[in-house]
Amino acid sequence: MQSRRDFLQKLTASAAALSFTSYAAAAAPSVLRESQPYDGPVLRVAIMGLGGYGSRVAEAMQSSKMAKLVGVISGTPSKIKDWQAKYNIPEKNCYNYDNFDQIKNNADIDAVYVITPNALHRDQVIRVAKAGKHAITEKPMGLNAKECQDMIDACKKANVKLLVGYRLHFEPFTLEVVRMRKDGELGKVNFFQGLSGFKIGDPSQWRLNKQLAGGGSMMDIGIYAINGSRYMLGEDPIWVTAQETKTDPQKFKEGVDETITFQLGFPSGAVASCLSSYNINFLDRFFLSGDKGFAELSPATGYGPLKGRTNKGEINQPVVTHQTVQMDEMAAIILQNKKPVIPVDGEEGMKDLKIIDAIYESIKTGKQIALKL
Ligand code: NDP
Repeated sequence: MQSRRDFLQKLTASAAALSFTSYAAAAAPSVLRESQPYDGPVLRVAIMGLGGYGSRVAEAMQSSKMAKLVGVISGTPSKIKDWQAKYNIPEKNCYNYDNFDQIKNNADIDAVYVITPNALHRDQVIRVAKAGKHAITEKPMGLNAKECQDMIDACKKANVKLLVGYRLHFEPFTLEVVRMRKDGELGKVNFFQGLSGFKIGDPSQWRLNKQLAGGGSMMDIGIYAINGSRYMLGEDPIWVTAQETKTDPQKFKEGVDETITFQLGFPSGAVASCLSSYNINFLDRFFLSGDKGFAELSPATGYGPLKGRTNKGEINQPVVTHQTVQMDEMAAIILQNKKPVIPVDGEEGMKDLKIIDAIYESIKTGKQIALKL
């Protein structure tokens, strides 16, 4: 069996070991491309949920220039102690899930990055907004479009920014394929294929618990193919059809999807054919076809290095630590109103959940579902 972490890690030839300076042009805020030390404004971040991915983000943020880890919110006191020691976090910046509303009185924290199980994102983001702090939340943004709308409304009301942790939106191989498509190098693009999946391990983990995960593979990994279809093709779909296959109902209980195939139709006439699975290994491939050429990323969504080729040959781009770049870019979005090439705001996150809602509806009804994003 392969755990999700094993899967992503196998795709990672230790990008974390590469220095911050190894990434340059494509994604970095212009200020960070300069060689001199950065002494501008820094986004002071508290991480909520000190689990597997929270730990990865914390580690990567050590190399960020515009974002700094200054606080934690956790239900596990021993982890708080460990993180305090490791990252030099003062006691006054440590919270639990009961008292973190008090963060509103803490002038030393600007933003909270919510990295907890999917079903908790909505309420936690709303509490962060009410405390007057900017919110970054992991994918999936919420369990459905309605939850996402609630989160967007709360952040608007509180006048704080809401971003979704789509690290690939700042990743150089990804941005290079988007550039090629935008510059017409592939001609008129009319097909995208997105394959996203791995064999999930431990049946008792929250990812296989409908209450905490909100679904199965689609919420966790299929969302990459959905999101990828939109940024690769550069448009939003207008219809979706979907089919579910379940071979192990013991492990993948009611409401926890094992494997889903789905198809998306776009206004230009382009179509996407995608697969999301918790029971098939080695699925991490995006393929974009146009009438003048193709581009392929495989792996397309792991922690890196990503690998790509086109009809003209290999794609060469700097290898970066995704979360280091992501946090610098998100700091620039929050502090300097920077506009990213591919958006990461709440509306962007909600589009993917609107598509997921429609995928589940299509499976239930057997019908093609019209989409209005
Ligand atoms: P983990 O299980 O490793 O960590 C989740 C953490 O959330 C726990 O360690 C715990 O931290 C906290 N938590 C709070 N309430 C609960 C609860 N009821 N059950 C379990 N944990 C709880 O999960 P991941 O870090 O892998 O995933 C967290 C989020 O990040 C998910 O939404 C996932 O989709 C997303 N993610 C995104 C990735 C990306 O590449 N963008 C990659 C991996 C995950 P504590 O003890 O501190 O309270």
